[in-house]
Amino acid sequence: MEEVSFEGLTDEFVLCRMYRSHAWFEVPNDTKEKPELPGWYWMVQQCARCTTLRYDLCDSNHDVQHRDYDYVDGYQVDSGRISTREMRQEWAERHRVEEVIDTQRTKRKKKNGKKPRR
Ligand SMILES: [Zn+2]
Repeated sequence: MEEVSFEGLTDEFVLCRMYRSHAWFEVPNDTKEKPELPGWYWMVQQCARCTTLRYDLCDSNHDVQHRDYDYVDGYQVDSGRISTREMRQEWAERHRVEEVIDTQRTKRKKKNGKKPRR
């Protein structure tokens, strides 16, 4: 198996790749020029995690006719070849996920213990 490299991949990138999804929110369009076709417009979204920008060119029927992405440097460093399992492994190793889970379990137990019974 070929060695995969996580070099240049920030935590945010790893998460977006692991989830196979960005966390989009709407931002004003300050990049794309207004389309010449009547009723057409750009919708711009940004990822809350990795700051990737997505530009949707919409027609007058509100269908997306074209989509552009503007990735931050480093995002496309061959990371397309890394599977979600490998991304999850990388995340777990970076953040020692087991310890975090244990802590949360302890907290939850305490919380439940305090819950008033009916
Ligand atoms: Zn993202």
